[in-house]
Amino acid sequence: ATPVSIMVGSGRAAQLGVLFRSGAALEGLGEARVVALDKTGTVTRGVMEVTDVLPAPGFGREELLRLTAAAESASEHPLARAIERAAGSGVPAASDFEAIPGYGLRATVEGRRLEVGAARFMERLGLELGDLGAQAGALAAQARTPVFVAVDGGLTGLIAVADPLREGSVRAIEELRRQGSEVALITGDTRATAEAVAAQAGIARVLAEVLPEGKAQAVTELQAGGQKVAFVGDGINDAPALAQADVGVAIGTGTDVAVETADVILMSGDLRGVPNAVALSRATLRNIR
Ligand code: ADP
Ligand code: MG
Repeated sequence: ATPVSIMVGSGRAAQLGVLFRSGAALEGLGEARVVALDKTGTVTRGVMEVTDVLPAPGFGREELLRLTAAAESASEHPLARAIERAAGSGVPAASDFEAIPGYGLRATVEGRRLEVGAARFMERLGLELGDLGAQAGALAAQARTPVFVAVDGGLTGLIAVADPLREGSVRAIEELRRQGSEVALITGDTRATAEAVAAQAGIARVLAEVLPEGKAQAVTELQAGGQKVAFVGDGINDAPALAQADVGVAIGTGTDVAVETADVILMSGDLRGVPNAVALSRATLRNIR
C-alpha cells in the first residue's frame, strides 16, 4: 500500500465519520466476506424499555417491578436500566448481588432471594416455565426480550423489554448485502427474540444464545474456510470478538474497551458507516493496485 492513497482514504473516511486505526484496517475491511453484527447496542439502540409486566397468580404487578428493579440496581446490563426506569421511585435496597454473565443475576431484597434472567437461567435452576414460558415465546416473536423473575425459588413473573432498531440499521444491512457481504447477527439473547430482530433488520444468519466468552468463538466459526470476517460491536463483552475478527469495528459511542480494541471506529452510532467504510476501503484498494 502506498502511504499516499491511505492518507487520501483516511481523509475521506474522516468526512464520513469513520476512523481507520491503520493502513491494514483500511485495506482489510473491503476484503471481508462476512460482516457479523452484535445485536444489543449495535443493530439496536441499546436503550431498552419495559413493555409488559406479567406477574404469576398471587403476585402484584407493582410488587414484581419493585423487587426486580431492586435486584437489578447493581447490574450494568441495559435491561437493568429499563426495569429501574419502569419501577420509578421507592425501590428498596438489595444485597448479595451476583451477576451471572449470559444468564442474569442473583440478589437479596427485603430478606427474599431473587433470581432474574433468561429462560435458560430458570431452567438451570430447575424451574418449570409453564404458562409464563408460552407468554415469553409470544413476546419474543415480537422481538421483545423476556426477563423471568424467581422469588425464594419460585417463578413469580415475567417482564418483557423492547430495544428498537437503530435508525440506520435496515438501510445499512441492505447496502452491505448489495455490496456482496454476508451479514450475520451474534447475540446472547434468546433465539426467538434474536430471530425476530434479525427479520426486522433483514439479516438471514443468526447466532443466538451465545455466552459472553463465546462471541470470539462465533467469529472463529464464521472464519471457517478462510473467509475474512469483520465484526461490529459496542460492548465490553464484544472486545474478544473484535480482536478475533479480521477487522474489528466499534461503535464510537460504545464502551472504551470496545473502542480501544477495534481497528475501525464509527464516530456516530449510525450503522450506515459500515457499508460506507467498506466502499471506501474498496476504492482505496483499487487506487493502490
Ligand atoms: P446481550 O448483550 O446480547 O444481551 P448478555 O450475554 O449480556 O448478552 O446477556 C444474555 C442474556 O442473559 C440477556 O439477553 C438476558 O436474557 C440475560 N441477562 C443478562 N443480564 C441480565 C440482567 N441484568 N437482568 C436480566 N437478564 C439478564
Ligand atoms: Mg452490544
